[in-house]
Amino acid sequence: MNRNVHQFDRSVLREYDIRGVVGRTIHAADARAIGRTFGTLVRRKGGKRVALGYDGRLSSPGLAAACVEGLTAAGVDVVNIGLVSTPMLYFAVYHFDADGGIQITGSHNPPDYNGFKMMMGKKSFFGSDIQMLGAMAGKGDWDTGQGREKSRNVLPEYTARLLKDVKPGKKLKIAWDTGNGAVGVSIRGVVDKLPGEHIVLNENVDGTFPAHHPDPTVPANLEQLMTEVRRHGCDLGIAFDGDGDRIGAVDGKGRILWGDQLMVLWARDVLKSRPGATIIADVKASQVLFDEIARAGGRPLMFKTGHSLIKSKMAEIGAPLAGEMSGHVFFADTFFGFDDALYCALRLLNIVANAKESLADMRDVLPQPVNTPELRFDCADDRKFAVVEEVKGRLLAQGAKFSDIDGVRVSSKGGWWLLRASNTQPVLVARCEADDRAGLDRLMDELETALAASGVKLPDETSAGHH
Ligand SMILES: [Zn+2]
Repeated sequence: MNRNVHQFDRSVLREYDIRGVVGRTIHAADARAIGRTFGTLVRRKGGKRVALGYDGRLSSPGLAAACVEGLTAAGVDVVNIGLVSTPMLYFAVYHFDADGGIQITGSHNPPDYNGFKMMMGKKSFFGSDIQMLGAMAGKGDWDTGQGREKSRNVLPEYTARLLKDVKPGKKLKIAWDTGNGAVGVSIRGVVDKLPGEHIVLNENVDGTFPAHHPDPTVPANLEQLMTEVRRHGCDLGIAFDGDGDRIGAVDGKGRILWGDQLMVLWARDVLKSRPGATIIADVKASQVLFDEIARAGGRPLMFKTGHSLIKSKMAEIGAPLAGEMSGHVFFADTFFGFDDALYCALRLLNIVANAKESLADMRDVLPQPVNTPELRFDCADDRKFAVVEEVKGRLLAQGAKFSDIDGVRVSSKGGWWLLRASNTQPVLVARCEADDRAGLDRLMDELETALAASGVKLPDETSAGHH
């Protein structure tokens, strides 16, 4: 093996992160090359120190050690903060004023996956940055030096920062499901200092995820939480994904509140102190969210899906809040503007603890359109963007009304439908929303017809998945 250059498996250099299957497409040598190349970039920007953390996966400590080797070989000092959630790593970059950060995490993926989320300075490192890293490694375009590694524990400062924004109110009873993910590291440090009663499920960090898959956007993964909420009569339940940057929630009746429903509550709250502010939501969000932001005096901005894209847009326009259907939510009114699900949970508690009504009541008074969840279906990588372009071409020819900020979001009679290509998988993503069931069926037919003309068929099970 030539150690002067490094070739990555083609599949691992993705839009928002580097990720693959350990032992198959991701090896220690990849981690070393990422460290060496990222470190080189940091130095060439005049930086010298990078914060590094890793999640609870079994492969994470080994990949972290190799990544540290690469960083120090490029002459960069490493602040190793150990086993942490992804937002704790983001926090560390701010706290230590580091010149960048790397989190080794497979997020919500199966146990055999792992990957790397990166920050250059205080900005997301993604898209063309990741392609450039791959190209530099392929040429062995590396600096050489002798950096040092220092271990630091950031937990006390991190939890203190989160708790700073907690507003006292009525005492709540809450069930928390960390899903054996990395939030298990920080959950006690927060809930033990909160008023009320707290039941923590699956707290032990365990990279085999014995209880359920750590992805709160899949209803099956919330069943244990719903059961506990009902059994203990909790006010609400909170769930996290494997690395703690996405939130899920259920009300006291054990019903799911999706990302766009939670965003309505957070938007109203933020707009109280930031009247007229622009609030960003991704193209998958319900029309209800955009309408409610406007009704609360804010300026709704529909933007592309993708946590790195949204974070960048938010920083660019100075928006105090942004959120995605997927549960990535970003507060920049009093927080750093990165996606920290535990912080989001505290902001939800502030709202519920200071309201007369329950979370279930708040959910019930929201407008209730009929919509599908996110529908995902296979489409080859070399075909997916073309399909969207073909559909767009036909819509233009028909004079249809649509937004093309990310795929096409078509305004149709009584609702809308979305078709976009996933940036990360060989998948097309769709969603439909209408005032009533008949309207939804009509929109689903429109979507099906639009796809059929490009030779794509909606799988049968997707059309049954309304909620
Ligand atoms: Zn995640």
